[in-house]
Amino acid sequence: MKELGIYIHIPFCIKKCEYCDFISYYDKNIYIEKYIKALKKEIKNTLEPLVIKNLSLKNSQYKITTIYIGGGTPSSIPSKYILEIMNTINKINNIKNNSIEVTIEMNPGTVTKQELIDYKKAGINRLSIGLQETDNKLLKSIGRIHTYEQFIDIYKLAREIRI
Ligand code: SF4
Repeated sequence: MKELGIYIHIPFCIKKCEYCDFISYYDKNIYIEKYIKALKKEIKNTLEPLVIKNLSLKNSQYKITTIYIGGGTPSSIPSKYILEIMNTINKINNIKNNSIEVTIEMNPGTVTKQELIDYKKAGINRLSIGLQETDNKLLKSIGRIHTYEQFIDIYKLAREIRI
């Protein structure tokens, strides 16, 4: 069985940072729901043949070994969508009881305790918390929406919740 790493892109942000080259939009939130719907369809159509039906690649069934949810800012959309994405994957390939690495990117200015709890429920076990700089003036000048203190708060919350 071959190994499969999945990358899921969430192209939404609260605002655009000055240095950003990634595909992300701060002014297209009206499309979040439609995007998630299309994403779930894409996951089903792409993943099923690889891990279940084994149609596209003869005798080459895959198993998921890592999942990375990046962006954009995945933590800027409601966590119910992250749960929906992970449920879609789980229906095809149950990774809940497997010890695979599941990561989500977060911006410290966009996360609450409840969202961290939802991420854990979704099977996420690794956080990538974006901190480009510890100096608040510099953070502001490059267009980040959070402070260093907010980063520390989120880090402590994540440790408390034991993600
Ligand atoms: S949070 Fe990340 S993806 Fe979003 S605008 Fe800033 S650098 Fe770009």
